[in-house]
Parts: sequence; C-alpha cells; structure tokens
Amino acid sequence: MAATARELREGLDTVSRALLRSASREGSKVDFLREVSTTILRFTGSTSLDLWIENRRVPYHWQAVSRPRRSYRIASLASGPDAGLWRRPRGDSPRSVTFLEHMLPLVGDGRLGASASRTPEGSLWLDEQAMVPFEIHGPDQGVLRLRRGGSEAFTARDVASCESLAHVLGVTIASRRAHAALTERVKELTCMYGIAQVAARPSLTLDETLQEIVELLPAAWQYPDIATACITLDEHAFASPGFRGGPRSLSADITVNGTHRGRVEVVYADRKAGDEDRLFDDAPFLDEEQHLIEGVAREVTAIIGRKHAEEESERLQQQIRHADRLATIGELAAGVAHELNEPLGNILGFAQLAGRAPDLGAETRRDLDKIVSASLYAREIIKKLMFFSRQTPAQKNDIDVNKVVDDVMSLLQPRCEKGAVSVVVELAPSPPLVRGDAAQLQQVLVNLVVNAVQAMPAGGTLHVRTTHDSEMVRVTLEDTGVGIPPENLGRVFMPFFTTKDVGEGTGLGLAVVHGIVALHGGSVRVESEVGRGTRFAIDLPSTSTTEEDA
Ligand code: ADP
Ligand code: MG
Repeated sequence: MAATARELREGLDTVSRALLRSASREGSKVDFLREVSTTILRFTGSTSLDLWIENRRVPYHWQAVSRPRRSYRIASLASGPDAGLWRRPRGDSPRSVTFLEHMLPLVGDGRLGASASRTPEGSLWLDEQAMVPFEIHGPDQGVLRLRRGGSEAFTARDVASCESLAHVLGVTIASRRAHAALTERVKELTCMYGIAQVAARPSLTLDETLQEIVELLPAAWQYPDIATACITLDEHAFASPGFRGGPRSLSADITVNGTHRGRVEVVYADRKAGDEDRLFDDAPFLDEEQHLIEGVAREVTAIIGRKHAEEESERLQQQIRHADRLATIGELAAGVAHELNEPLGNILGFAQLAGRAPDLGAETRRDLDKIVSASLYAREIIKKLMFFSRQTPAQKNDIDVNKVVDDVMSLLQPRCEKGAVSVVVELAPSPPLVRGDAAQLQQVLVNLVVNAVQAMPAGGTLHVRTTHDSEMVRVTLEDTGVGIPPENLGRVFMPFFTTKDVGEGTGLGLAVVHGIVALHGGSVRVESEVGRGTRFAIDLPSTSTTEEDA
C-alpha cells in the first residue's frame, strides 16, 4: 500500500464504488459476501478477511482467505462453538474505544489486549493484523479483521484507510439488506396479487382455486428453488410439485368461523451438499415470511368462506325454484282434483245406486262393481293430490312426535320384518310438542317408511331418529337402500314421479309428505348417495314457535 495520499484516495473511491455496486447485485448472501471480500482483499493486499456481522435474524461470522488457497466459510454466532460470544453491551457504539475490548474473546487473539495500538475510531492493530469496528444500520454493528501474510505490518495510515473502507462496507451491507428486503417484498406482493387474481376467477371450483394458489407460493419465498408448499383443507391436500414434509417449515392455520379446517405450509427441501450457506439451518425463514404465510392463510380462509356462501346461495336458489315449481303443480293439482271430485262423486254414487237395482244380471253387476272400485281408486288419488296441494284441512292438536313415530313403527313392524329390514329407533327424550294433525303426520311417516323398505329389496337397516332444539323437532329416516341418483333428487316430491313399476307406486307418496309437512309449517330435506342409502329429514316447528307466529 505504498502510495501517495492522492493515489490512496482515488483507490478508496474506486473500491467504495465497487463495494456499493455489489449491494444491488442479484444472488445469495454468500455470493454477495464473496464479492465484497474479494474487493477488499485485493485492495488491502490482505491474505485473509474476517467479518463478524450483527443481524436481526442470526449474527454470523464470515471468513475469506486468499492465500495460500482461496477459501470461504460462514458460521452462525447464534449456534455452534462461538455462540453467545457476540455480546456487545447495549448502547455501546462501535466508535467507542471499549467496543472492541468486549469483542476480543470473539474476534481477537491473546496478544492483542495489551500491546495493540488504537485509533480514535476504536480500531485495534498489531503487526500484520487490524480490527476495525463499523456500523451497519441503526443498532447493528460489524467488525472487520484483516491479516497480512509474512512480515508486512499495518501502518496507522493503512488502518485509517481500512476504517474508511469498513465504513463503506457498513453502508453497502445496509443497502444490500434494504435491497434484499425490497426484493422479498416484491415477491410477497406478487404472490398476494396472484392469489387475488385466482380468487377472482368465478369459474374455478374451490379445489381448483387452492391448487392454483399452492403453486404460486414457492416463488414468494427467499429460496424459491428449494421451497415447496401444501394447503390442507378438511383432510384434502393440495401441494406444489415435489412437496415433501420436513423440519424446515413454516405454517399458518386455516380457521373458518372459529373451526380449525386445515393449514398452509411451506417447506424447504434439503440443500445440496457443499453449500456454504449454513446460516440457513438456524433460521431459514424471515419474519416477513411468517407474516406472508399468515396473510395467505387469511386469504384462503376468505376464499373458502366466499365459495361456501356462493354454494349456499346456489342451493337456496335451487330450493326456491323447486318450491316454486311444487307450488305451481300444487295449484294445478288442486284445480284438477276439485274439478274431478264432483263428476267422480256422481260416477261413484250412480254406480252404487245402479248396483242396488233388483233385476241385474251377474255380468252387469260385476261391471258396476268394477266402476265402483275404479272410482274409489281415483278418489284415493284425488285425496292424495289434495294433500299435496294442501287442500286438506289439518286438525290442530298438540302432538308428541315420539308417539307418532312409535305408533307408525309398530304398525309397520311386520312389513319391515318381511322385507328383512331391521329398524333402529332413537327417540329424543321429551321433545317439545308440535301443533298439527296426528293422522296426517302418521301418513307422512308411513309413506317414508314404505319407500325405505321398497328401496332395500335385499334387506338393510332403517334408522329412525327424533332430535330437537327449542324451536323445532326433527325426524330423520335413514335407510341403507339403493339411493336416489342426483338427477332424480330434485323430482322425487313431484306428484306422479315414480321409478317403480305400475302397481308398486303411483308417485304420490312424497308429494303427500311434502304437502302435509308444508301445511304444518315445516320442511323436508332429502340427501342420498346411490348404492349407500337415503336420508329424509323432516323439521316441524314446535308449539312455542307456532304460537308466537300466530
Ligand atoms: P312411489 O313410492 O309411489 O314411487 P314416492 O313419491 O313415494 O312415489 O317416491 C317417488 C320416488 O322417489 C320413488 O319412485 C323412488 O324412485 C324415489 N324414492 C323415494 N324414497 C326413496 C328411498 N328411501 N330410497 C330410494 N328412492 C326413493
Ligand atoms: Mg312411495
């Protein structure tokens, strides 16, 4: 370093610019440290360089050796043999003369304490080594140590220029941190923006949305090449390619309406052997990344909520359309029933009257009997249509639904036995009473039980349950029968809809169920899976609610 003051200043200028340029270069922290080390080693003619750097995540020690063989090393000061040696007293400035004294156990060797020379800036030097403290940003500090080979001792002027260099190095490191933070921030925002875009596509199902989101996640992390992500929701997993669980992971829970439903997880795969970025092992994730993953979990939660709401509103709309259709058919049926009732009454009346004539031949009498029984059959159908269209007045009594269930089940026990159907009845203790017509409610249950038995031609189990809250009583009938294909689910309550052979079903059973339940202010719901079974649930308002309504 035998140069004029001017040469020295120009040299310092060039090196400073080179250092500062390194701050905004793409690449890992290790790449950055390699670059600045090479610049400093070359300029100062040193054989080795050590940096102890304070850092919010993991303080670390970096070593670069240029001679005899080029080598680099990075180690955490938060773990490993030097852990805890970085213990600068709070508030101690690197410029204070005592700063390095505190650091000597870490950065120095035994000879230094007593015999080293000092500068007003707090640096120490002795023979061929110099130690320079410097400031990075805010409270963060660093120490630069340079060594020269052989007998080339540092001079006061050398140390002064090392101090200038260390100062620029501090600024460079702070600038690189700001730059890296900005890059991370851009990645985060890009990720959140991507998620928002995926979420805004209404054509995607929830599953498709989650799959697209999970594939956006790895790129937002500091080491995208080894990051993989997984979103679990209700035991379903959506993963980015190559996802495998591992210890270096970050996660956030997905909680919808207070219920834990799953989580978002990002995992770093193992680094390839030979990578020096050991630091990574101690604290692979940034604080910002914890925030990011929580943000992602919140976004996913919102998407789930929205999708559920969409599905629910679609379901409600369908229900309304269905109810509308049933109401229209009901009116039609009521009209038809009404129109047919009178002529049918006449047919029946006159046929019976004609049958009483004394001088009828046997043939004619048989014909008249046929007219009578056909008319009776027709009247039954009309009666059912009237039930469906709620034209039949109901009696209003206080009814214990459990008793209705008991009565019907004992009535139909033989029929169930014959069909090899085992019946399990579970009645809620003392459900509230409902206001209505016991005979009609029995009819409802009879129709449902008969359907269930018919749906289990090879036998099975029929579960009948009553449950309740303060406002309603629910009767659930669950069979293990053939089930109802989805395309029929919306039609089973239509009058005359049947899948049964002539003589086995008229398709009026569920129409009647619907009519009676509606007349009682209740609702009936069906769920079914082909090959597994069907569940009907009937909700009837309890007297407390019906009276309030009245
Ligand atoms: P029906 O029994 O006379 O056919 P319903 O109105 O009682 O008429 O039922 C209509 C249709 O709904 C049936 O034909 C059947 O296809 C279907 N269904 C009703 N209940 C069940 C059930 N428990 N399991 C399977 N299918 C059922
Ligand atoms: Mg039926």
